[in-house]
Amino acid sequence: MSHSSDLFERAKRLIPGGVNSPVRAFRSVGGTPFFTKKANGATLTTADDQDLIDFVCTWGPAIHGHNHSVIRDAIAEALNKGTSFGTPNPYEVEMAELLVEMVPSLEKIRMVNSGTEATMTAIRLARGYTKRNKIIKFEGCYHGHVDSLLIKAGSGALTLGNPDSAGIPESLAAETIVLPFNDLESVAAAFEKYSDEIAGIILEPYPANIGLIFPKSGYLQGLRDLCTQHGSVLIFDEVMTGFRVSAGGVQTKEGITPDLTTLGKIIGGGLPVGVLGGKAEIMDHLAPLGPVYQAGTLSGNPLAMAAGIASLKLLKDSDAYNRLEKMGAQVKEAISSTLNEIGLPGQIPQVGSMFCLYFTDTPVENLDGATATNTNRFNKYFHTCLGNGVYIPPSKYEGNFISTAHDQGGIDQACDVFANALRAL
Ligand SMILES: *Cc1c(COP(=O)(O)O)cnc(C)c1O
Repeated sequence: MSHSSDLFERAKRLIPGGVNSPVRAFRSVGGTPFFTKKANGATLTTADDQDLIDFVCTWGPAIHGHNHSVIRDAIAEALNKGTSFGTPNPYEVEMAELLVEMVPSLEKIRMVNSGTEATMTAIRLARGYTKRNKIIKFEGCYHGHVDSLLIKAGSGALTLGNPDSAGIPESLAAETIVLPFNDLESVAAAFEKYSDEIAGIILEPYPANIGLIFPKSGYLQGLRDLCTQHGSVLIFDEVMTGFRVSAGGVQTKEGITPDLTTLGKIIGGGLPVGVLGGKAEIMDHLAPLGPVYQAGTLSGNPLAMAAGIASLKLLKDSDAYNRLEKMGAQVKEAISSTLNEIGLPGQIPQVGSMFCLYFTDTPVENLDGATATNTNRFNKYFHTCLGNGVYIPPSKYEGNFISTAHDQGGIDQACDVFANALRAL
């Protein structure tokens, strides 16, 4: 078996940057990424035979840890029947019933193959349904690599978007209004200025692709009210938070009903899946019933459905969320008490099994706040943790995840590593 460094050299010759998704390349923390040859429970085994306690959990999906026997058996059973049919299959119906039961705002759903596809289709649907073009998104919210959503910021609250990535036409970016998160007034002002042009608002209700940010009290309700008032579609992108913070996502926790929701990650049980869903009246605008086209050769794939169904049922039938919350609280306590002990500025936003560490005292409420946190300190902290057998996300902007496969011994051990890594700063 080759070592990580050899594999990375070979990969770089044929794959841009040696990776199939950029953050895996360790560019922001520096160093060479490790390759994983297998994963079990809460442990990754690298190509260099190092065992790591995993707090990335495949960037969110692995809420049951890796290679869970129930999910593996479900996939194996589906595999015995064939991998793809190109016709409707029974798993799709079971998945739809499960999702609609577990997430109250969902009346109808459409399965796709990734979170990106889900958000791409959701904004197309919002536009097709309202016959309007403009979409409001918020700085620092990530919705996959959809052209019109891959836009961070213009200067000033009402500036129309500048593309974040090369290859996105300005004319397309101009249809995206980018506003700071947690500032309801700027959203109200946008509605005033573009009154009849706004098809919808898309947001991560807890932005978790710039660390972890919570909405101010009344903010989500304010967005709900503005959308209702102006006939715009409110889209909660819960690809990350869905089934992570609770079975019904942030919307259930906060008691807000969006018009459309996008989900992914956990609902695939480790296989590639996304879904959009919401009000039947809106969803029925999708082809073949309505004029908004959307399709997928492998959508509703039986293996992915079987893995997802097994994963959701495990969450439904256990006290997983209580256990996850306890472990999350323990990590938060370990880190914040160490920060206090050594007098280092920092904070650790946490909800259930999701947390991040910001190296700043200033409360982080939006992208600017997250950007202003100390990067060098984070990068040093990351490498110390990794060197001591704990893998956290290789960027200060990514959320950390705990799985039901983490056990008390592993969490205790990781808390020691976190504390010592902080002391070493
Ligand atoms: C990961 C993520 C996406 C994109 O999902 P992919 O499956 O990577 O395309 C979209 N929105 C949010 C909030 C995400 O966290």
